[in-house]
Amino acid sequence: MLNLKDQSLLRDSGYIAGEWVGADSGKQFDVFNPATGEKITSVPDMGGADARRAIDAAESAWAEWRAMPARKRSKLLRAWHDLIKANAEDLALIMTSEQGKPSKEAFGEILQGASFVEWFAEEAKRIEGDIIVPAANDRREFVLKQPVGVVAAITPWNFPSSMITRKISPALAAGCPVVLKPAEDTPLSALALAELAHRAGFPKGVISILPASHGAEVGAEFTSNAKVRKLSFTGSTEVGKLLMRQSADTVKKVSLELGGNAPFIVFDDADIKAALSGAMTMKFINAGQTCICANRILVQDGIYDKFVEQMQQAVANLNPGHGVEEGVNMGPLINQKALDKVEGLVADAVDQGAKVVHGGKRHALGQTFYEPTVLTEVSTDMKVFSNEIFGPVAGLYRFSSEEEAVKLANDTPYGLAAYFYTQDMGRLWRVGEALEYGMVGANEARFTNEIMPFGGMKESGIGREGSKYGIEEYLEAKYLCLGGI
Ligand code: NAP
Repeated sequence: MLNLKDQSLLRDSGYIAGEWVGADSGKQFDVFNPATGEKITSVPDMGGADARRAIDAAESAWAEWRAMPARKRSKLLRAWHDLIKANAEDLALIMTSEQGKPSKEAFGEILQGASFVEWFAEEAKRIEGDIIVPAANDRREFVLKQPVGVVAAITPWNFPSSMITRKISPALAAGCPVVLKPAEDTPLSALALAELAHRAGFPKGVISILPASHGAEVGAEFTSNAKVRKLSFTGSTEVGKLLMRQSADTVKKVSLELGGNAPFIVFDDADIKAALSGAMTMKFINAGQTCICANRILVQDGIYDKFVEQMQQAVANLNPGHGVEEGVNMGPLINQKALDKVEGLVADAVDQGAKVVHGGKRHALGQTFYEPTVLTEVSTDMKVFSNEIFGPVAGLYRFSSEEEAVKLANDTPYGLAAYFYTQDMGRLWRVGEALEYGMVGANEARFTNEIMPFGGMKESGIGREGSKYGIEEYLEAKYLCLGGI
């Protein structure tokens, strides 16, 4: 049992139509702590029939929800935000227990997640259409912004809370009910958010959360059910493509936040201290398991050796362990599959000539811990160059010119986040404009927040989350022409 201040935040049921319910099939699955291997609890294993029930409840709730004055919707979102913040410590403990990230990171995620709810509580009141000069004098012409309808959402385990609020709050603000399936590994953070939404007083059916161990079945219902007008997915590019294909028959709107392969470029003229600090954060945060983690660290010839040496020292100071323990700043990988993948990528790089200068194997802590690792002399034909590593492995590549760095950085089907460090003003503009990425940080690695748009180009996705653009994903632009004036 987790030592929560409020034990009722640890829910072991699904949440459909304002009720805590089991799966139609009666099946359950276990949720484990990846740092200890211990079982935390079991939750209902929901499937297609449960998804249908939740979608029907959402559709029934839609008319009243969209008709509710935006100010009132805003107040409900604000109440949810306040409850999330008031319970942040418990929510962070639930997250660390099921996901493994250190307490400080988990707490930070809860606050970031709450910031999306606050932002969209405000945006709910600022949904604006247009009055356009009409094409003829006897007409008046308008663009109305209206809610899309029932939204189905699917989220990953790496940000078990903020990926949920980043979808649910703009949808609700726009006037859409939401049915959401969290990741199999981290349903408890999602259910705790549902408990707080219940307390905030959202009408029945406006939010449903369906834990499931077989995402494909719920996903099939979400994508084939004509009552669902919009699918919002965060996860791997592979599953995103599949869901997009499945959504074609009902021509659903889709928003996709998919995988990344972020380049992190350090030019000879960079402030090396700032670059190292940025690289350490964006490589090892969440044990390397974020979509915007530095996946390829490209370092110019002139400072390559110095940068390697400093990175090696910084990595030696990392302290992997159980996230609830004092001083721990790196947790385990999420599961055995993730560990096997990271191990395979390192083995491939080493086979092809990469040098391990730090780490390079499973950690003595056991479970799914992997040593923070630094690889040098890494090249483009190794799998680490083209695959999303999703682990604490920093591969350092050499380059000699600005042109080469940009070419290497863009040499991927992904286009989510990119970083570069330079003190040259001209280069700041040139490289900033040349990188084919949805988000670029120049001399700044921690740049994501609720105010700015988050999202990718190319195979990293479609659409944006957060910011003033985020709510547009849940709105239709309707042209209304009034004739005979
Ligand atoms: P994933 O395997 O694609 O899973 C994501 C979600 O999709 C989970 O809820 C999963 O359920 C579900 N799912 C899997 N197969 C499905 C199917 N056939 N039909 C319907 N749902 C299905 O990705 P992940 O390993 O959880 O997350 C890591 C990936 O997410 C990385 O690629 C990362 O870059 C990406 N990500 C992107 C962003 C962004 O904003 N761009 C943010 C965070 C993460 P189960 O848990 O039951 O498998």
